[in-house]
Amino acid sequence: MNERIIRVGFIGLGTMGDPMSSNIAASGEFDLALFDVDHDRARELAGRVGASAVERVADLADREVIVMMLPTSAIVREALLDGDGAPRIPARPGTVFVDMSSSDPTETVETGEALHRAGYALVDAPVSGARERAVDGTLSIMLGADDAAAAERAIPVIETMSSRIFRTGRLGTGHAMKALNNFVAAAAFTAASEALAAGADFGLDPDVMVEVFNASTGQSFVTTHVLPAHVVGEQYASGFALPLFTKDVRIAQRVQQAAGREAPVCDAVTRVMGEALDALGNVDHTRAFEFWRDR
Ligand code: NAD
Repeated sequence: MNERIIRVGFIGLGTMGDPMSSNIAASGEFDLALFDVDHDRARELAGRVGASAVERVADLADREVIVMMLPTSAIVREALLDGDGAPRIPARPGTVFVDMSSSDPTETVETGEALHRAGYALVDAPVSGARERAVDGTLSIMLGADDAAAAERAIPVIETMSSRIFRTGRLGTGHAMKALNNFVAAAAFTAASEALAAGADFGLDPDVMVEVFNASTGQSFVTTHVLPAHVVGEQYASGFALPLFTKDVRIAQRVQQAAGREAPVCDAVTRVMGEALDALGNVDHTRAFEFWRDR
């Protein structure tokens, strides 16, 4: 029988980490401590959800499960390990780290090895569904782990964020799956953007186009959830930043390269996303539509 997990830490309280950690707190099952480099953000959230905020990541040392929801693999590594690869958090042996960020699987395996040497376990559990489903607790979660017992210890915490947990295999497979999923989503987004721009030039009404996509075989999450409000409706506030989406397709490209595959669609999507990123910087990814349409 697993010892029941009580003390949970959470690092990275942004667009996604805020509602995800709020759902851990709302379960009432855990003593939750929060850390973010933006200390005001951590304090505000702690006050709102009944958790505690810590000032240094090392202050999470008494936590049994520590969740990360950070922008990139490099930041995850930097948060957990010093320049020599030694852990920054002097946690108890057996502590389970759960990387729910959309990280690069190769770097996840490296960080996992460094943590393993120090007596800790890393599992990867990236998510899909955007902020809306983080709030609702209905995210898709892709769980990879080398250590089955560590995954079992983390699952009660993960389940407070969603019951839709897919076991993907060894450590890093969750992150590979997430990147490939986002490549498919980015392909849908770039294709739909091209189609909308061409359709408008041809005299089609964008609202009618979206209605037809959504009643037809062109339908996808992009056409149902992204285009209506954020592209055609011009809100450009999906909550998913262009640098993060571009990072994901670049990870997918590396996954394809590591498999020794030619991936012309992934290469094209990565290139046009990169061009939009170079021109626009840190904006909501839906702004890329305007860039592609107007160039
Ligand atoms: P965000 O930029 O809104 O939040 C990141 C948070 O991490 C911020 O609060 C920031 O202050 C904090 N942070 C940065 N460096 C830190 C460090 N060294 N130590 C502690 N805290 C640090 O990002 P987000 O949109 O919440 O995305 C987080 C992850 O989730 C990314 O990997 C992203 O690709 C992935 N993701 C995002 C979405 C989405 O719709 N936004 C959906 C699924 C997955």
